[in-house]
Amino acid sequence: LGGLVLVAVDGDLIPVQAFTSTDPGEGKKKLVVLGTGWGGMSFLKQIDTRQYDVKIISPRNYFVFTPLLPSVTNGTVEARSIAEPVRRMLSSTGKQVDFYESECVNIDAVNKKLLCRDASNVRVKGKEDFEVDYDYLIVAVGAMSNTFGTEGVKEYCHFLKELEDAEKIRESVVDCFETACLPHLSDEERKRMLSFVIVGGGPTGVEFAAELYDLVSEDLASLYPSVKDLVTVTVIQSGDHILNTFDHRISKFAEEKFQRDGVTVKTNCRVLKVNEKDVLVKEKATGQEVHVPFGMAVWSTGIGTRPVLTKFMKTIGQTDRRVLATDEWLRDDIAYLFEKADIDKSGTLEIEEFQRTMEKARERYPQLEVYLQRQKFRHVVDMVKISPGDAKEKAMHLNVDEFKKSLAQVDKQLKLFPATAQVAAQQGAYLAACFNALPKKDYKPEGPERIRGEGRHRFRQFQYRHMGQFAPLGSEQCGAELPGDWVSIGRSTQWLWYSVYASKQVSWRTRALVLFDWTKRLFFGRDSSR
Ligand code: FAD
Ligand code: MG
Ligand code: MG
Ligand code: MG
Ligand code: MG
Repeated sequence: LGGLVLVAVDGDLIPVQAFTSTDPGEGKKKLVVLGTGWGGMSFLKQIDTRQYDVKIISPRNYFVFTPLLPSVTNGTVEARSIAEPVRRMLSSTGKQVDFYESECVNIDAVNKKLLCRDASNVRVKGKEDFEVDYDYLIVAVGAMSNTFGTEGVKEYCHFLKELEDAEKIRESVVDCFETACLPHLSDEERKRMLSFVIVGGGPTGVEFAAELYDLVSEDLASLYPSVKDLVTVTVIQSGDHILNTFDHRISKFAEEKFQRDGVTVKTNCRVLKVNEKDVLVKEKATGQEVHVPFGMAVWSTGIGTRPVLTKFMKTIGQTDRRVLATDEWLRDDIAYLFEKADIDKSGTLEIEEFQRTMEKARERYPQLEVYLQRQKFRHVVDMVKISPGDAKEKAMHLNVDEFKKSLAQVDKQLKLFPATAQVAAQQGAYLAACFNALPKKDYKPEGPERIRGEGRHRFRQFQYRHMGQFAPLGSEQCGAELPGDWVSIGRSTQWLWYSVYASKQVSWRTRALVLFDWTKRLFFGRDSSR
C-alpha cells in the first residue's frame, strides 16, 4: 500500500500505512474523505484546503446530530431539526471542497482508487458507478447496527442509528396505537400491539425506552384512553444491569426509575430469535425460554463493521477484527521491537527482556497502555503462557512469532476508545491538524527511524479528552458523568443536558429549530399524527 490511510471508524483512530512518496513539486495532494458524520465533518471543518484538494463522499448529503436521534422517535424534536446539509456546512466555512453523494463500495489501496455508487433514487442509468483517485484517504464511514447473526432481527426489528430509523419508529409507535383501537381486535391482540420491546440496555436503548415512556404517559395516554392501560415497555439486557458503561449510581437510578414507571427490565436475558410477533428470550440463570410478544421491537445491542470496510480489511489481511487496525502496531514494528529487546541476540526473549520491551512499547502504543493498566501487565505474560516462576528457572522461549502472536492478542482484546460522537469529532480534528502540518514536515517514514520517533511519529499521539456523558432517563430526569468523577442525577441535570445539546448544535439554524421544537412541545405536547 502507499498512501497514508488514516481511519476514524466510530471511535477508533488508526494510521494504517505510511505514505512514501511526498512530492511537493506536484501540486496539491488529493485527499478524499468518506463519510459526513461526526468524524468526517469535524475533519473537514479543520482541514486546510489551500494545501489539499479535498473531496467528500457520502450517501447522505447531510450531517446528523445523533445525540438527539432518540428525541426524534417520539416527536420531541423533528427529524429535519437535527440534520444539517453538508453543502451548507461547507459553504459556511468558505472552503473549496467537492461533495459526491454516493456510497464507496470498494477501496483499492494498491492503486489508490475508490469505487463509488450513486445509491440514491435519482440516477443516470448505466452510470451509477464511478471511480475516484486519492493520495490520502480518510475513512470515517462510522458503524452500522449489529444483529450478531440473530435470526429475524433484520426482518422484524427497528434499528435506531440513522435519521430514517428514528422517523420510522415514530410512525410505527403511533401506528401501533391506532391499530390497537380498531374495533374488531381481541384484547390479546390489542395487548400485543401495545407491547414495545427494546433489545439492548445501553445508552441508546435506555434513552429510547425513556422517551417512549414519556410519549405514552404525557401525550398518548390522554389521546387513547381506551387502550392506555394495555401499554407495556420491556427492555431486554444481556448483562446484570442496564447502562453498565455508566457509573453504578446512574445505572441504579435508571433501574429504579424504570421500576417506578412500570417499564420492565429483563436483565441477564439473551434474545435467541425474533419472530414476526414475538421475541424468543432465554433467561441465562434458569435456561428457560420465553416468548415476549411485541407490536414493535427496537434492536439496539451494539455496532458492527460496514461491508466496505470488512472487504478492505480482508484485502490487507485483517480478518478476524471488529475494527480496522494499524499496521504499525502489528506488522512493521514487531520485528524491530523484538530485535531491540533481544539484547543478548539469542533469538529469544527472556522475561526481563520481554518486560523491558513492553515498557518501551507502551510509550509508543497508547492502546497498550490502556490495556496494561487495566490488566496489570500480568495478563500479557499469561497470554503467552509464561509464568514468572518458570521463567526464573529456564529461559523463556519466546521467538518472533510467539511475540507477534502475543501482541496481536493484546490488540484484539482492546477496545480503544468508546464509540461516541465525542471521540469521532476529536479524532477528526486531530487528523486535520496532522494533515495541515504534514507538508511542512520533512517526512521520512521508511525503516526503523520511524520507531525512534521520526517520520509520522513526530506528530503527537491522539489523546482523547473525555468531557463526560449524559444518560437522559425521561420525565425530565437525567444522569450525567462529568469530568473529575462527578456524577449528577436529576432534574437540574436535565437542564444541563438541554443547554449542552443546544450549544453543541452545528449551526444556528439547527439550534434555533431544536429550541423551537422543545418550546413547541412544552406548549402543545408532542404531535401524534403519523
Ligand atoms: P457517523 O457519524 O455514523 O458517520 C458515518 C458517515 O459515513 C455517514 O455520513 C454515513 O452516511 C457515511 N457512510 C456510510 N457508509 C459509507 C460509504 N460506504 N461510503 C461513504 N460514506 C459512507 N455519541 C455521543 O458522544 N453522545 C451521544 O449522546 C450519542 N448519542 C447517540 C444516539 C444514537 C441513537 C446513536 C445511533 C449514536 C449516538 N452517539 C452518541 C454515537 C455517535 O453518533 C457515533 O459515535 C458517531 O456518529 C460516530 O461518528 P463517525 O463519524 O465515526 O460515524
Ligand atoms: Mg463520519
Ligand atoms: Mg453522524
Ligand atoms: Mg443521485
Ligand atoms: Mg395499522
